[in-house]
Order: sequence, then structure tokens, then C-alpha cells
Amino acid sequence: MKKIQMVDLVTQYRHIKPEIDKGFEEVLNSAAFINGQQVKTFQQNLEKYLNVKHVIPCANGTEALQIALMSLDLQQGDEVITADFTFAATVEVISLLKLTAKLVDVDYDTFTISPESIKKAITPKTKAIIPVHLFGQCANMDEILAIAEEHNLYVIEDTAQAIGADYKFKNGTEKKAGTIGTIGTTSFFPSKNLGCYGDGGAIFTNDDALAHRLRGIVNHGMYKRYYHDEIGVNSRLDSLQAVVLNAKLPHLEEYSAKRRKAADAYDQAFAEHPNLIVPKRADYSTHVFHQYTLKVINADRNALQQYLAEKEIPAMIYYPVPLRKQKAYDDGHYNDADFPNTNRLIGQVISLPMHTELDEEQQKYIIEAVRKF
Ligand SMILES: *Cc1c(COP(=O)(O)O)cnc(C)c1O
Repeated sequence: MKKIQMVDLVTQYRHIKPEIDKGFEEVLNSAAFINGQQVKTFQQNLEKYLNVKHVIPCANGTEALQIALMSLDLQQGDEVITADFTFAATVEVISLLKLTAKLVDVDYDTFTISPESIKKAITPKTKAIIPVHLFGQCANMDEILAIAEEHNLYVIEDTAQAIGADYKFKNGTEKKAGTIGTIGTTSFFPSKNLGCYGDGGAIFTNDDALAHRLRGIVNHGMYKRYYHDEIGVNSRLDSLQAVVLNAKLPHLEEYSAKRRKAADAYDQAFAEHPNLIVPKRADYSTHVFHQYTLKVINADRNALQQYLAEKEIPAMIYYPVPLRKQKAYDDGHYNDADFPNTNRLIGQVISLPMHTELDEEQQKYIIEAVRKF
């Protein structure tokens, strides 16, 4: 049996090697490392795939969030609501821009931001909501958009873990994750569902004026060469990364299907287990399983992780500490009683190996080991 990994990018590369190697060679021979044609082509390919008017490539998913917030002209002290149970990038950029982060609880079943908790956190200073489509499934956007409309708030979708997921509105229409709110952002970090071979990110919007702003901000606030109208940043996707993304994008649907198939096998094995809760699939979103995350109940989650490690099965705890309790963000204002779901999840979640190259033999071995424990 092949050694089990959380992600297996080497085997995935072997399947697309000719295209990638050829693309790399073209870039090397043209030396157009920055702003090469490959970047423009990828931008257009992604716009088409997502059915969104504007894709603005940038350097990584964290800067995508930062630049999205910068484009909205928020003022110091304005409040931005986001989830307590997620990766730190979201709260990090809010704080970096001297905005005030309001962390709220998530839904226990779906791991995504709780619309009820958003409602409770709204004040006259609230300007934006950042739902994170965690682990590969969209947050409840029908409810989030309704709240945003009522209170006149921007919505920035952090799609770093859910590129390719389809959101199904109550009225039956569908949109790709990241193209629903005011702005969407994503990351092409190698282990993401659409990952490059270094750092990369992108910002999406259907708003022409915002797209113009975003393109200026990623390029030093420069709208005309060497005329700087505002303070921007330098945030670019490079040509070599665009080669990788152009090679992978046509396979993204197939990659998602492979992840779903692996998730189906896990579901089938664990659905009836008294100590395990399989990830809920919401009826309003397809799931692209960036992570396959079980909840362990009435059993020792950490001991399970240790047991699997001894069997050479990597399993990860995403996330062990809620953001409001991180040293950098603990401002002493949060009340534990407002976070019943996050408080439970941090002690229960465990993510099993999940990637496009996971084979049946490996999965059987993982399932057997979890059951034995
Ligand atoms: C990975 C990730 C990011 C950050 O992306 P980088 O490209 O690593 O900066 C932001 N938000 C979420 C939810 C992520 O998973």
C-alpha cells in the first residue's frame, strides 16, 4: 500500500505532468515571470468556470481577503462579523486594517457561520460579514444575504476551502461559491482543492466599479502607470503558478467528484457508528470536501488521533483553538456562553486523509483502523 498522506500532490502532478512541464518551459524560455499571458488566460478561464464577471488574481488567499476589505472604504472601528471557528487569516486581516472583528458562533452541524449569531452581533457600526465556506461547503447564503440586505452590509465570501462548490438558492437558482456576495476570495495554496505550486490567490466580483478598485489596489494603488491614487499593495499571481492552475482547472470537477466519492465511502463506513458523526451535507450546497471532518462523541478524540498516527495514518484537528481564544485576538470581551457550538467542536473534530489520489485500499485501511479504535 502507498504511504497515506493528508494530501498527495506528487501523484496528482504525475497525471498532469506533460502539460505542466511544457507550460513551465514556455515561461522559462520567455522569461515573462510576472504578468505573463498565462496569468491573463487563467483569469479568463476562471471567470468562465465560475460564471463571474471579474477575477482579480493576487498573491495568496490572505491578501485576497485584505484587498477585498480595502476596496470597501471601511473606517477604523467599523465592525466586521466573521466565524470564531476557522483559519486565522480572516480575523487577521480585519485586525490588520484596524477594523473591529466580531467573532460569532458557527452551526454545529455544518461548521459554518450561524445566521442567528450574526443577527445578535449586529450593531450600528457593523459594515460587513465574512462567511467562510468551511471544509468545502457553503455557508447558508440565503439567510446571510437576507441579513445583509436588511442591515445594508457587504458580504465577502472566503472561498479558500470551497472552490467549485455550487450554492442552491431557495428559489432554485444556482451560483458557484464565491460569486454570491459583494466579493469572493480564494487561495491557491498547494493543498487547497485548486492549488498551485507555491502561493496564489484570487478575488471575484460581478461589480465593475469594485473590480476597477481591486485591480488598482493589488498594483500599488496605481490606476495610471506611476500615478498612485491611493495606498495599495503589491499582490500578484506569477506566471509559473498560472501554468499550474490552467492545467488543473479543467480537472476541478473531476477532482471534486473524486473527493465526494471518498467522502461517500467514509460516510457509509461511519454513519451508524455510535461515537462518530459524519459531516452533514446541507441541502443548499454541494460539498467539495476540502476536509472530511468527523465529530467524535463520548470517546477520546486525541487518543484516536494518536492511535491513527501509530498506524501511519495522518489525521488533523482543524481547529483546536477558537480564534477568540488566540493570544493575538483575545480582547476579553467575548462571553463563552455565546459560543456553545464552537466550544463543543474544538474538542470533537478530526479530519481524515482526503484528496484526489486516495485509493480504495488506503481508505479501507483507514476505515478499519478508526473502527478498531
Ligand atoms: C487557506 C485559507 C486562507 C488563506 O490562504 P493563503 O493562501 O494561505 O493565504 C484563508 N481562509 C481560509 C478559510 C483558508 O483555508
